[in-house]
Amino acid sequence: SKTLRIGLIPGDGIGREVIPAGRRILEALPSSLGLKFSFVNLDAGFDTFKTTGKALPEKTVETLQKECDGALFGAVSSPSTPTPGYSSPIVALRKRLALYANVRPVKTVKKNPSPVDLVIVRENTEDLYVKEEKTIETSDGKVAEAIKRISEKASWNIASMAGEIALRRQRVRESGAESIHKAPLVTITHKSNVLSQTDGLFRSTARSALAQQKYKSVGVEEQIVDSMVYKLFRQPAAYDVIVAPNLYGDILSDGAAALVGSLGLVPSANVGEGFAIGEPCHGSAPDIEGKGIANPIATLRSVGLMLEFLGEEQAAAKIYSAVDGNLEEGRLLSPDMGGQAKTDEVVEDVLRRL
Ligand code: NAD
Ligand code: MN
Repeated sequence: SKTLRIGLIPGDGIGREVIPAGRRILEALPSSLGLKFSFVNLDAGFDTFKTTGKALPEKTVETLQKECDGALFGAVSSPSTPTPGYSSPIVALRKRLALYANVRPVKTVKKNPSPVDLVIVRENTEDLYVKEEKTIETSDGKVAEAIKRISEKASWNIASMAGEIALRRQRVRESGAESIHKAPLVTITHKSNVLSQTDGLFRSTARSALAQQKYKSVGVEEQIVDSMVYKLFRQPAAYDVIVAPNLYGDILSDGAAALVGSLGLVPSANVGEGFAIGEPCHGSAPDIEGKGIANPIATLRSVGLMLEFLGEEQAAAKIYSAVDGNLEEGRLLSPDMGGQAKTDEVVEDVLRRL
C-alpha cells in the first residue's frame, strides 16, 4: 500500500472545525483502496499573523514543498481594514507552489428539480491578480491603473486542464454514474469582443489547446462572460466544464455556488503539477464559529477533489458518493441546509456510508 502525506492548514474560524473532518474521512477510507495517510499540522491565517507577524510562515511553505503530497486548507479571516504586513496566505500559497488552476465543481444531488452539474476551471496565477497596480496624481485627480496579464503558456495549461477534466467526467459517466450530461463540453469564457489582445489571446490559445487530438471527443464552445452569467443563471444545466481567466473565473465561481443553496456545500482545489490543495469555498464564518454547527460537506468534497488530482480517483468517488448519500437522504443536515445536525453528526453519517 501507498502512504500519502497530507498537510493540514486549518487557518481561522470554522476552518479549525472542518479540517479535522477532512482528516477523519481520509482515515476512514476502506483499506481495500490500498491507501494510507500521514498528516502534518501547519499554520497560516490571521491568528498566525497576529502572533507571529506572518500570515504564511516559511515553515508551512517548506513543509508542503519538501514533505507533502497534498494539503487541505480551511479558511482564513482577512482583516476588514487594511493591515500593514498582512496579505492573504492562500493567494501566496497558490503562487509559491505554482498551483495554476482553481477547480470548482458545483453539483446538485439527485431529485433536485433544477439539476446542476458543472465545474469551473479558473486560471489561478495571472490576469488582474498579478496585482501590479499604481495610482497617478493628475490635474483631474487620482487615476488608478492595473495590469491585466494573460500569457499563452498559462492559457494553454488551463485550457488543457479543462480538456482533461471534461474527459475524466465523461469516463465517470461511462462507468455508470448518473448525470444530466451525455457528452463532454468545454465552454471558453472571455470578453475578447472588447479586450481583443488579452482575452483574445486567452480565447485563441484555449481554442488551440482544446483542438489537440486527445480532446477530439470534447465539444468546445465559447461564451462572452456577461452573457455567460445570464445563461449560467437561466440554464445552468447546459454547462459541463467552464474555463475562464482568473477574474471572470473568480466571479463565476461564487455565482455558481449560489445555484446549490449553501456555501457550506461547495468545494475547490488548487492544482499544480503533482500537487493539489483541497479548500472549501467558504470563509471562516465568524457568525457560527465555535458552535460546532459548520457544514463539513464542502471540506469533505474538497478532500475528494484533492485525491482526484493526486490520481486517486477511486478513493475520491467513494467520498463523493458517501456525501451524496447523506444529502439525498436529508436526515442529518446542518443548520445552513435547514437541518439540526452538528458538524460531527454530519461527518459520522458520511463516514457510515463509506
Ligand atoms: P463566509 O463564507 O465566512 O460566510 C458567509 C455566510 O455563510 C455566513 O453566514 C456563514 O455562517 C455561512 N457559512 C459559510 N460556510 C459555512 C459552513 N461551512 N457551514 C455553514 N454555514 C456557512 O464569508 P464572509 O462572512 O464574507 O467572510 C468571513 C471571513 O472569511 C472574512 O474574514 C473573509 O475575508 C474570510 N473569507 C475567507 C475565504 C478563504 O479563506 N478562502 C473565503 C471567503 C471569505
Ligand atoms: Mn473568490
